[in-house]
Amino acid sequence: MRRASSLVTLVVVAACGGEFAHTVAPTTQATMVMPQDTITASGSALPPPPRDDGRLPATVAPQRYSLELRVDPSQPRFSGVTVVQVVVPQATSYVVMHGRDLHITRALARVGGAEIAATATARIGHGGVVPEELVLTFAQPLPAGSAVLELAYDAPFAADLAGLYRVQEGGAWYAYTQFEATDARRAFPCFDEPGFKTAYDVTIAAPRGTVALTNSPETAHEDTADGLVVHHFETSRPLPSYLVAFAVGDFDVVQGQTSPFPIRAITTKGKGGLTALALEAAAALIARLGDYFDVRYPYPKLDIVAVPDFAAGAMENPGLVTFRDVLLLIDPKHAAIPARRAQAEVIAHEFAHQWFGDLVTAEWWDDIWLNEGFATWAEAKMVDAWRPSFGATIEQIADVQHVMDTDALRSARAVREPVHSSGEAMEAFDGLTYEKGAAVLRMIEAWLGPDTFRRGVQRYIQENAWKNARADDLFKALDFVSAQKVGELASGFLDKPGVPSVLLAWKCGGRAGSKVDLRESEWRPLGEGGEPARKWTLPVCVASDTQKAKSCFTLGAEPVTRTLGACPSWVFPNAEEAGYYRFVLDRPQLLALTRSAGALSAADRLGLVSNAWAAVRQGSIDPSTLLEVLPSFDGEMHRVLVESIADVLGSVNETLVDATDREAFQRYVVARMAGKKPAVGWEAPRGVKEDDDRALARRTVLRTLGEIAHDKRTLDEAEKYADRWLKDPASLSADTAAVAVPLASLRAGAPRLEALRAAAKNAKNPEDRVLAIRAMGMFDDPAVLGKALDLALTDELKLSELVYLFRPVMNRPDTAALLFAWEKEHWAELRKRVPASLGRGLLVGVAGAMCSRAGRDDAQAFFSTSTQGMEGVKRPLDEALEGASLCVALREHGAADVSRYLRTK
Ligand SMILES: [Zn+2]
Repeated sequence: MRRASSLVTLVVVAACGGEFAHTVAPTTQATMVMPQDTITASGSALPPPPRDDGRLPATVAPQRYSLELRVDPSQPRFSGVTVVQVVVPQATSYVVMHGRDLHITRALARVGGAEIAATATARIGHGGVVPEELVLTFAQPLPAGSAVLELAYDAPFAADLAGLYRVQEGGAWYAYTQFEATDARRAFPCFDEPGFKTAYDVTIAAPRGTVALTNSPETAHEDTADGLVVHHFETSRPLPSYLVAFAVGDFDVVQGQTSPFPIRAITTKGKGGLTALALEAAAALIARLGDYFDVRYPYPKLDIVAVPDFAAGAMENPGLVTFRDVLLLIDPKHAAIPARRAQAEVIAHEFAHQWFGDLVTAEWWDDIWLNEGFATWAEAKMVDAWRPSFGATIEQIADVQHVMDTDALRSARAVREPVHSSGEAMEAFDGLTYEKGAAVLRMIEAWLGPDTFRRGVQRYIQENAWKNARADDLFKALDFVSAQKVGELASGFLDKPGVPSVLLAWKCGGRAGSKVDLRESEWRPLGEGGEPARKWTLPVCVASDTQKAKSCFTLGAEPVTRTLGACPSWVFPNAEEAGYYRFVLDRPQLLALTRSAGALSAADRLGLVSNAWAAVRQGSIDPSTLLEVLPSFDGEMHRVLVESIADVLGSVNETLVDATDREAFQRYVVARMAGKKPAVGWEAPRGVKEDDDRALARRTVLRTLGEIAHDKRTLDEAEKYADRWLKDPASLSADTAAVAVPLASLRAGAPRLEALRAAAKNAKNPEDRVLAIRAMGMFDDPAVLGKALDLALTDELKLSELVYLFRPVMNRPDTAALLFAWEKEHWAELRKRVPASLGRGLLVGVAGAMCSRAGRDDAQAFFSTSTQGMEGVKRPLDEALEGASLCVALREHGAADVSRYLRTK
């Protein structure tokens, strides 16, 4: 249940591509070893069938590509000629490669001086639903040795933001690509598996007056008779097909640094003025990453491209990194801090991939957790080093709490799981892959020490540069530098789901000294079944007020007792929240720790609040104990703590507060936040440069007062600011607008919706547009909200913008049911309209907001039949329904206790 997202400020879709797909035998440029069992012998009557593991039958291996593309974004189709040098390990009459929606007009092989003609047929691969494998059948067998395949084709620009697709903005057409995981095959015939890493020679014929880009710098161009210009590019460094990228359009090109390598920002016409912050962050972060890896940026140029319609957050194509435009284009005079932080994080993430993913590529999609986990870990590390005030690491620690909730579900998957099809590759890109992967790496870093960890990472990069590798290669490098068994310990977290829990109890002793007992179990929320607890080897670090240094050890199946020396007044069971585990203290020791909260670090205070809430959901403390703990944080102003407390208040409101107690709980919430309100105010004090923390805490405090507590004064004030913003967005700071504008919708009527539509339409920057759309999802009036939702069925909103509209509706207990009813009514249209590449989890996520038996059953009945045959839905639906069941279990267990507490206080 990821209900804590009710207070999320900026919806940032997971950085990086939506999906993934393959490897084969170890490949390097020159030597390719083919598995013998699948070789098609000369004279076979039938082509080799699709393989059960989702990989291509090993007929030939690509060594080098030449792509000649003809891309005119104003036309509905594009065309190309793909030439692939291949090694033929054994004579064969068949070659199986990838191609989807390609109309093949010529297929042949050149062997020596001879041409051998082929016919191309498409077929469905293992676990697939559309034809994605291209079978070439040759008129006579290709002899063993080398050959050149040549295929001419044309194809439609994709309509679902995957493959090679086009977007219209400001009346002009632009073409972009998004290939990860398995959509390069929609742009050119290829061997679309990450294990095939080869050089690419690319030419793009594009309309005169447009810019054409790919991974490598342009070397020359020439006009053609038919009004196109042919652009030639340098031969690429070795790339897997999913990292090849193109862009064509009448772009603004803004030059950033020119040495040691050039960085440029690429935008649609007229948006180049919004790239200064992105270019500044890009130069700073790429330099820091080069220092960290001790290997300079491995490609000759670096373009960052703002794409107006993009399914994922960003994509790490070497030298041509693409981003959802809202992340890249922000107005330096007017940008809110979360927008600047999100921008820095996503840039750092994609740039970390230039080494981790691009220079060294996962051999197969089952290791994609390492790619994404590492980039996620690195983004916080690098942004913290560059702009500590963004608090990127502590932000990530807060995110881990939500991931643990998902990881504890029965429907959770292991981070490292076999991948047998395109669909499974796509499913591998979920929150667990990113956040749990990052958390496990962070734990390993803390366990080994940051310097040792870094040496291991550097060794891994140096040993595997330009090649493919597996996670075990990283663990071997870490084992080597640390003399530990890193892979063994990591396997417990990667190969099974679940969240460890540490039960800690301490007592002050006499002569024997004070003792702390620790025992490992598994964190399971109320409502989960009684399977035996899983076991881990767990690196644990404990801090207390009587120890100078934290005490660290590994905890396994056997309980551990440690002496603490002098009698402590508090003990913290997960120092700096570095370990991937939750902890349980009994009520007196939890209250003792709470009384000493002022002495704890911010990460530990965050751990205290989130573990107390986790203990409620596990049933190990009563909700009323949590409500006793929270007032100790009334003076807390660290904005991540304020966010965490607000999160908990929101979750309690959604799950444990009955309608009859709503007003009493609203008063409780006002009491928690009212003291903070004067400290944050609505606006920065005049003439003072405000620190980031204060501006960020403001959002949370005001949103909590408005959205959860329905505080009349706060809502009145929000309306005044929202009116100002609607008249002139530039008249208000973006941080103030970000909270005022959505809150002002709560009590507003139809005219406000019209004003927001106009604001979205006329927005001068993507940030303002997203804000207007978020505010459209905040109406309490069912009729107005229904009208706002109807916009999702029109072209007024881009597909990638639906998330901004739906989230705020889904996250409020009163409107989630309305969204569900609306989805039911319009299901046929939604099903057609929302592509798998966009994450259909968005549509079924509303099931997770149901917190009654009837609501849950209704959602199950509806979605289980209506999603038949839809790709990419099953897991998000299972998770959402399980989340709903847990919510019901928690409510039945704890609502009466909350009610008692609120009535007696
Ligand atoms: Zn990524």
